[in-house]
Amino acid sequence: MSKAIGYAAQSAQEPLAPFSFERREPGDHDVAIDILFCGVCHSDLHTTRNEWHSTTYPALPGHEIVGRVTAVGKHVKHFKKGDLAAVGCLVDSCRTCPSCKQGLEQYCEVEFIGTYNSPDKHLGGMTYGGYSDHVVVDQHFVLHVPEKLGPAGVAPLLCAGITTYSPLHHWKVGKGQKVGVVGLGGLGHMGVKIAHALGAHVVLFTTSPGKTEDAKRLGADEIVISKNPNEMAKHANSFDFILDTVSAPHDVDALLNLIKLDGTLTLVGGPPPLIVAPFGLIFKRRNFAGSLIGGIKETQEMLNFCAQHNLVADIEVIPIQKINEAYERMLRSDVKYRFVIDMASLKK
Ligand code: NAP
Ligand code: ZN
Ligand code: ZN
Repeated sequence: MSKAIGYAAQSAQEPLAPFSFERREPGDHDVAIDILFCGVCHSDLHTTRNEWHSTTYPALPGHEIVGRVTAVGKHVKHFKKGDLAAVGCLVDSCRTCPSCKQGLEQYCEVEFIGTYNSPDKHLGGMTYGGYSDHVVVDQHFVLHVPEKLGPAGVAPLLCAGITTYSPLHHWKVGKGQKVGVVGLGGLGHMGVKIAHALGAHVVLFTTSPGKTEDAKRLGADEIVISKNPNEMAKHANSFDFILDTVSAPHDVDALLNLIKLDGTLTLVGGPPPLIVAPFGLIFKRRNFAGSLIGGIKETQEMLNFCAQHNLVADIEVIPIQKINEAYERMLRSDVKYRFVIDMASLKK
């Protein structure tokens, strides 16, 4: 066992605060990583505050991890000490069910083990995430980071990147298509960048008029202020695909009305239950879908795609001591466009 430090919440009502715990020694198939940067996902906030009613405390979030390999087990083939490596939202799954065999570990039919707030098979208790100084993970769930992309900007790709890349790929977004991205936060800004890189005509839906110029710079062809019904009406029945990244209650019927015959609205955001009017779906044979992060193979593909297109997240680097303030800003949609914790601050 090795001593680890991080920031954890002891209850839904308490802020994140310094926390000491233990990590396992790397086993034969494990990679030990000193964490350099960890992105801050809205799921971290939902979990810390028990908004999904599934949090076990202490809760130590963080699943956008980039760091340096410090040790590898004797059966580890593709990583060595000194490599830049990454860990996303998953650290284990059954690996034998049909989903796992297809590389869709996030849809494991037995149980996937999340990087945080999942049962820890090795030490008991729950898994602790990346708001910490180091982590030990089975090699199957460790990703290679293309060295040409800076480590801080890469971190958000491990969740925000793959969560937008996977559905854009699955629904075959590309040239000649009109694609919407709803919400310009961590996921949304990566959705805009990736959809643009795939050649789609990208329309960004935002509640924040102040984000218009940034949205254009990030790759949006058009911007719609979603609170303005006249602006929304102009796009009725016109979208092939819309990716909804919104983290709070909102009007999905208004978005469904913009989907054309046989088009799809896919949710990746995790707000409380939403209300959908059946006729909005029935009349244009519209599809209403969801998508969860991405598998390990696809996550590596996404990292390579981002390296090829020179894509990283637009980030604001913070010391870990500012994490609670960052959560409050995230709730005010005041993120440009992902907070990333510089883990060197943990030692201060
Ligand atoms: P984020 O950075 O906080 O961005 C969310 C954006 O949603 C905000 O910036 C804002 O954009 C918009 N928004 C917020 N409140 C709104 C409201 N009341 N009405 C309309 N729009 C609103 O969060 P994130 O990290 O991107 O995560 C987004 C959601 O995805 C979270 O619920 C998270 O848990 C979930 N998530 C899901 C997966 C998955 O696998 N499916 C993976 C990661 C995260 P504007 O200012 O542009 O309106
Ligand atoms: Zn996430
Ligand atoms: Zn499985």
